[in-house]
Amino acid sequence: LQRNSGETEFHQAVREVLESLGPVLVKHPEFRERKIIERICEPERQIIFRVPWQDDRGQVHINRGFRVEFNSALGPYKGGLRFHPSVYLGIIKFLGFEQIFKNSLTGMPIGGGKGGSDFDPKGKSDDEIMRFCQSFMTELYRHIGEHTDVPAGDIGVGGREIGYMFGQYKRITNRWEAGVLTGKGLDYGGSLVRTEATGYGATFFVDEMLKVRGQSFEGKTCLVSGSGNVAIYTIEKIHELGGTVVACSDSNGVIHDEKGIDLELVKQLKEVERRRIGDYVEYRTHAHYRAGGNIWAIPCHVAMPSATQNEINGKDAAALVKHGCIAVGEGANMPTTPEGVRVFLEAGIAYGPGKAANAGGVATSALEMQQNACRDAWSFEFTEKRLAEIMKGIHDLCYVTAEEYGTPGNYVNGANIAGFIKVAKAMVSQGLI
Ligand code: NDP
Repeated sequence: LQRNSGETEFHQAVREVLESLGPVLVKHPEFRERKIIERICEPERQIIFRVPWQDDRGQVHINRGFRVEFNSALGPYKGGLRFHPSVYLGIIKFLGFEQIFKNSLTGMPIGGGKGGSDFDPKGKSDDEIMRFCQSFMTELYRHIGEHTDVPAGDIGVGGREIGYMFGQYKRITNRWEAGVLTGKGLDYGGSLVRTEATGYGATFFVDEMLKVRGQSFEGKTCLVSGSGNVAIYTIEKIHELGGTVVACSDSNGVIHDEKGIDLELVKQLKEVERRRIGDYVEYRTHAHYRAGGNIWAIPCHVAMPSATQNEINGKDAAALVKHGCIAVGEGANMPTTPEGVRVFLEAGIAYGPGKAANAGGVATSALEMQQNACRDAWSFEFTEKRLAEIMKGIHDLCYVTAEEYGTPGNYVNGANIAGFIKVAKAMVSQGLI
């Protein structure tokens, strides 16, 4: 704790993983001898840099940029970039740490990393976003590469931002290197389904958990927090599978639409016009908007937190369980506090932690890397089928591992243990580095 003082989210993420690993260390003395735990908790490299940029009025601003290259045992560092004012080292380290195990679970050859900036994209013009992205990449470019470190999007970083960063990388290096970033536009090396992948994948994961219990999404009332990339495509897939999402949100408030969220309207507001979700009720007048509301107070069968870390606390979790929630699938990273996780596990509901449930995004990024490497472009149907297979594979691996280690149905243990063992074995094989 002292080595990483003040990094509360990082401590939380590490504690959650380590709590699952006792039995693994008993079974694998070589992991203890080679000090895998101590090594895996220490990033291989962390980079912090200045990002100066000018706004439209000519004012100069200085933000801080980060890239934490956490673990490359399984492949090049891979993980998104987050632009949000709350970003500091502790957030990037928690995300990078989680990413190691998530990427391991996908079965693809990718290590773990994460980056971002405390830049706030809200209310910025397109030109300001471009200038910021160019400045950010002017430092980041020297640390990344298709065989070294391959960033992607996260909160505040979507297709537009990836495009500006890709352009700047190309300009500085004089290399058209598709494999250096994922989440690219379809006309310059992007993959179909990457935009949808995290939301679709999380929904596939929950569908698998429901199947184990003889259930499905059909007829289920669902909550999806957030209204960004992950939330939008979670809503889309739930509706396709027969569920009804009745609420979504942003950091200002909650939309409750009992007739079911009108997804085309959400896409128009958020993806095209870049407006706030509160504007939804201008068009769907029967729906309610609650400024500062708590989405988890609304009764549901399935909850899919898809906004940010620690958005479900112990009380929220207890309310969800009390109101009949049978499944929680985390589209966001670490959206449930440790107290909330305890409530879900004790209630015995199907609880899919983020590092397993939201791995579809990075898995499809790895599919994008595959397509880039062989200069190919797969169809939507083929890529979505691959995603669905990968999510089923992750689900089954977590399920079987939880059972093998004596905690059947506990996907937290399943994900932590299965994700860890593969990385730990690779670290042992590669010697003391
Ligand atoms: P977006 O920026 O597209 O959307 C984020 C959404 O969450 C917005 O509605 C935003 O509302 C809300 N939000 C963000 N920060 C906060 C906050 N501090 N408090 C309340 N609400 C907040 O991001 P994504 O959809 O890409 O990411 C959402 C989550 O999914 C994150 O946890 C991310 O790490 C995780 N994730 C994303 C992946 C991806 O492929 N994009 C892959 C795996 C995980 P507002 O506009 O008001 O800020």
